[in-house]
Amino acid sequence: MCLICIDFDRQAMSLGEARRALGEMRVALDAAHVAEVEAKLAESERAAPSPPSSPPSGPA
Ligand SMILES: [Zn+2]
Repeated sequence: MCLICIDFDRQAMSLGEARRALGEMRVALDAAHVAEVEAKLAESERAAPSPPSSPPSGPA
């Protein structure tokens, strides 16, 4: 359990925010837990697909 899990479970953090946070925190987290969080986010994404209002590609 980490800050990402807590905030995401409380819905205080959106899927996109959680993914960003995971990218920033993954070096500080246990590798096994990173996999758990990725699985949690993937499952959530499958249950509620992201709205088409956010294009996947854009200027870097
Ligand atoms: Zn966690």
